[in-house]
Parts: sequence; C-alpha cells; structure tokens
Amino acid sequence: MSTAISSERQAIIRTLRDFCDAEIRPHVMKWDEAQEFPSEVFRKLGELGFLGVLFPEKLGGAGLSYMDYQAIIEEVSCVDPSVALSLAAHNSLGSNHIYQFGTDAQRQKYIPKLASGEWLAAWGLTESEAGSDSSGTRTTAVRDGETWVLNGSKNFITNASVGRVAVLMAVTDRSKGNKGISAFIVELDNPGIRVGKKENKLGMRASDTCTLVMEDCRVPAANLLGSLGSGWVDSMKILDGGRISIAALSVGLARGAYEAALAYSRERKQFGKAISEFQAIQFYLAEMATEIDAARLLTERAAAAKDAKEPVTKLSAMAKLYASEIAVRATDRAIQIYGGYGFTKDFPVEKYYRDVKLCTIGEGTSEIQKLVIAKQLLGGA
Ligand SMILES: Cc1cc2nc3c(=O)[nH]c(=O)nc-3n(C[C@H](O)[C@H](O)[C@H](O)COP(=O)(O)OP(=O)(O)OC[C@H]3O[C@@H](n4cnc5c(N)ncnc54)[C@H](O)[C@@H]3O)c2cc1C
Repeated sequence: MSTAISSERQAIIRTLRDFCDAEIRPHVMKWDEAQEFPSEVFRKLGELGFLGVLFPEKLGGAGLSYMDYQAIIEEVSCVDPSVALSLAAHNSLGSNHIYQFGTDAQRQKYIPKLASGEWLAAWGLTESEAGSDSSGTRTTAVRDGETWVLNGSKNFITNASVGRVAVLMAVTDRSKGNKGISAFIVELDNPGIRVGKKENKLGMRASDTCTLVMEDCRVPAANLLGSLGSGWVDSMKILDGGRISIAALSVGLARGAYEAALAYSRERKQFGKAISEFQAIQFYLAEMATEIDAARLLTERAAAAKDAKEPVTKLSAMAKLYASEIAVRATDRAIQIYGGYGFTKDFPVEKYYRDVKLCTIGEGTSEIQKLVIAKQLLGGA
C-alpha cells in the first residue's frame, strides 16, 4: 500500500485547511456552547464539493476516492470534530446508502441534491431497543397499495433536524429476523415524520442529534431502498465504510489535541524552563505522535482496501477501534500537558476531550468492533 499523497489530494487538503481556518476555527466554541449546527458552513462545504465526495461527477459529486475521503474527514475533525461528524453522516451513511443500493432513478433523484448540499442526509438504524444489537429494530413498515406505512422511532440520529432526507430501517417481515428488515428513503417534510427529542450532549454539540418519530408515515413504494429484506445487511456494508470515517475523525481529533499540546508545551514555563524540556512531557508527546501515525496508517489501509473493492469489514473495525481508543488517550494526555488551563474552556483541548468519547461509541462501540474483528478472525464463528 502506498501512503504517498497525490498532488491532487494535497491541493484538496490545502483548500480545506484554509476553509476550516477561516470559516470554522473562529466559531468552534460558540457553536459548541449554543449547540448550534453551522448551516452556512455546510452550504459552503457543498459549494466546494465536500458533500458529495464519493459520488461520480455525472451525479454532481466530486468523484474522489475513499483515501481522499478519509483525509478530508481528518482535516475537518482536526478543527471541529462536530462538523466532521455531521459531514461523515451525510457523505458515508445517508447519501452513500442511496448511492450504493439505490436504483438509477433514486440516485438521479437524490444524489445531485445531496452532493451539492441543497439537501443534507441522515441515516437511522438505532432505536431504543436496537443499539449495539442493531437487528432489534422495532419500527415497522407495512405495505398499503402503492405506499409503505412506517411506524416507530429512531434514536440519536445525526442530521435529523437539519437533514431533508433520511434512510431509515424498518421491519417488513418479523418472522425473518434481520433478513426481514428493509431500508426506506424518507423525505423529512413528510407529515408522518417529526423530529422528537434533541439530545443535550457531552460533546459533538454542534452536530445535530435528535430522535425521529414516525406515525403512519406514508412513503411511495418506489422509496424502498435496495431489495425487500436487505436493509440490515446493506446497513452493515454501509457501516463498514462509515467506520473508516470515524477512524479518520478520531485521527483528526487526536491530531488537533496533539498539535495544541505540542505548541503549548514549548510556551509554558515552569522551574525556569519550557515544560517541553521535561522528559515526562516529551514521553507524552512521543507516544501521542506515534499512536496518531499508527492510527492513520490503519485508516489509510482500510480506505485503500475500500478503493480496491477488497473486503473491509475487519480492516475498518480495526482502524475504528484503534483510532478511537488512541484518540481518547491523546486528549487525556493533552489536558495533562496543559495542566489546570486544559481544564478550562479557554483552551481547545477541553472540547476535544469531550468530543472524543463519541468515537468509541458511534457506528458501533469499541466492544462491538472487537466482536466484529474476532468474528472475522475466527471465520465467521
Ligand atoms: C452523537 C451520536 C450520534 C449518533 N448518530 C447516529 C446516527 O446518525 N444513526 C444511527 O443509526 N445511530 C447513531 N448513533 C447511535 C450509536 O450508533 C449507538 O449509540 C451505538 O451503536 C451504541 O448503541 P447504544 O447507545 O444503544 O448502546 P448499547 O448497545 O446499549 O451498549 C451499552 C454498552 O454495552 C456494550 N455492549 C452491548 N452489547 C454488547 C455485547 N454483545 N458484547 C459486549 N458489550 C456489549 C456496549 O459496547 C456499550 O458499552 C449516534 C450516537 C451518538 C451518541
């Protein structure tokens, strides 16, 4: 696997870095404290092509690779992990489920709007009874003539109140277990669906997270996504790709905390010298830098395999598990390097420390990643 960065990717990252410095960095804490979703930033990200990263140009996308995508998520997350989380949910979950499993008509109807940022996408698998055991879906979809009627609710849905369309999983045949779960495209101005509770979160507070409630929500039969009963299986494939984005998000977040701590350690003086001259601090920095590089390599390996259309279930789970766990450690170390100042909202590491916890939970907890990896190692046992 080559880790050389193409000049095209370098140019993309330069553009994105300038954009993040100008449009995101100055507002990060304001959005965090107000739990404000930065709609204007997403409009501009759409104009720049970052809302259709993985889709072909003929559908309005940027036609980039998964290697490009993980680099993009890392870069945004380094500045604001909340923005990266919504960006990832839009690109690799909601929109990508339509792109990967949609008919030509569904792709043509939705992908151009999603890739341009005119619409944002949400993706709903999680319910109160269906968390780690995502096959515990209770939401039902019953066929009625030329429509499907959905009833139930979805929890913790990223982009639920700011999105315009969602891909939602619902049981179409309870007797078939997870093979009786189907996916539906639901437009969020449908009178049968409403936004419920908005979560008041520890971190990732500028990312929109709400419940979606369906009460006799009628969608056209043409909005069945993929084949009948394939929704859960397709969701697992979507999560295989999505986990690469959470790994990249973790790498970016850890890098943001590390870079801040590195700079601070050179400035802060105690006992007459910069704290970076103390070996204890140097060891923290050395461990952070090493673990971040290792996490990025795992993430890139998974992304390269995805681009090569190789199996990624194990690779993406390994990348997500390792990157999220080292990111938790990196933010902890960063606060330690800042001492008491790191415990305040005057310095950026406090926010990274809160945001990072989502990385070991979202798109499958660390425990679930270990189960996924072990199942692959043991040959599907
Ligand atoms: C900010 C945020 C955004 C999210 N966005 C989305 C979204 O857009 N779409 C969506 O569908 N979901 C979303 N989620 C939901 C997320 O994917 C779930 O929270 C996650 O999968 C865990 O499910 P749970 O919260 O029900 O935890 P639980 O499943 O209740 O797990 C609780 C604990 O038990 C452990 N556990 C459970 N089963 C096992 C087992 N078999 N072996 C060992 N340990 C186990 C877990 O690892 C965890 O430590 C989001 C969550 C958050 C917090």
